[in-house]
Amino acid sequence: MDSIIINIGDEILDGDILNTNAQYISRNLKDINISVKRNHVIKDEISSIVEITKKSLKDSDIVIITGGLGPTDDDITREAVSKALNYNLYLDKILLQDLELIFSKNNYIMTKNNIKQAYRIENATIIPNEKGTAPGMFIKKNNKYIFLLPGPPKELKPMFDRIVEKYLQNLSKKKIYSKIIKTIGIGESQLEEKIKPYFNDNIKIGTYAYNGIVDIKVTSYNNILSNAKENVDKFVENINIEKFIWGYNDDTLEKIVFNLLKKHKLKIGFAESLTGGLISSNLTKLSGISEVFPLSLITYSNESKINLLDVKKLTLQNHGAVSEKVALEMCTGLINKYGLDISLSVTGIAGPTGNTKNKPIGLVYIGIADKNNDICKKIILNGDRIHIQNKTSLYAFNELRKF
Ligand code: ATP
Ligand code: MG
Repeated sequence: MDSIIINIGDEILDGDILNTNAQYISRNLKDINISVKRNHVIKDEISSIVEITKKSLKDSDIVIITGGLGPTDDDITREAVSKALNYNLYLDKILLQDLELIFSKNNYIMTKNNIKQAYRIENATIIPNEKGTAPGMFIKKNNKYIFLLPGPPKELKPMFDRIVEKYLQNLSKKKIYSKIIKTIGIGESQLEEKIKPYFNDNIKIGTYAYNGIVDIKVTSYNNILSNAKENVDKFVENINIEKFIWGYNDDTLEKIVFNLLKKHKLKIGFAESLTGGLISSNLTKLSGISEVFPLSLITYSNESKINLLDVKKLTLQNHGAVSEKVALEMCTGLINKYGLDISLSVTGIAGPTGNTKNKPIGLVYIGIADKNNDICKKIILNGDRIHIQNKTSLYAFNELRKF
């Protein structure tokens, strides 16, 4: 089965906003084996919307329209679609009451143009909007399925998830099973080369690279769910990329490290230079972290490395702040002075200044120590300053996971 997505709004055509709704819908339709035949972006103009809606209904069974359900003059999707379908648009008393309730609950003043959002297309089923005022609609006409959804992504996403569950999933007859394999330390194209020999007709593969991570999404469609699962599991078992895999599905490196620390009852601290606190900040995004994380230090200057971490002046003089020796002294200093079980330090050159032949931008040392061992990993990252900082944090958690 296929579908057509229509995104309405001058702001998308003007380049003022990115069409993330199309991306979200396409990606989730793919998961349920509904392909997207075309994607139209249409300006806020009744005649254009009518025309494209009619054409899309001829060409596909499912038409998903986003945007233009708000209260302002440029929000004309309801009018246009009712015209295209030859259905009436009428004021729905119940929708109006609901709308009045939302406004009074939130102490908002309901203006005259808000009433527009209580208009319903004849024969439409309402899709409730829990994050906003514009309800969505579902209309089935001549075995065609039409969905109207609001533009703001935070309203659209939960509503789209609901229509997948309620309507679309059942349209695509097959059962779906998918798994995301999360990798680090290998590029997307290199990874694809490695796993390609294991591709087969029973599975669909998508690779997605972002912020230094590459995800492999493996999906299988089958009449029987357990068969789909078996197809996916077989692929995951066979591909020989163990050393790059760090997790599955919604795992994050921070979560994995947190769980390991909890399991072994270890307290960790960081001595951060080029990341300026980012590693600590990323870890504290997880709730319950105080159990394993008592302190961190941002030691940006040489003096603070000496005074707070007992890094030797001579080491700094002989090797420079960005060096294996300093990274190791930073993390052993942190352990010895502050009574931690494990520590991690980072020192590096985030750029854009400070480039030298021996120490290029992106050179980073990650030190890790506990009471008995210490190691230092040298990496060279590319990208701008922010990328280098983000990747340093990512690699820091990856090294901790392996320590
Ligand atoms: P509202 O009640 O907010 O006006 P609406 O259904 O009328 O909702 P639009 O007016 O089309 O939606 O868009 C409102 C906002 O939602 C846009 O300014 C934009 O920030 C966001 N938005 C709209 N369409 C998209 C899209 N395709 N992708 C991402 N964001 C979008
Ligand atoms: Mg609007």
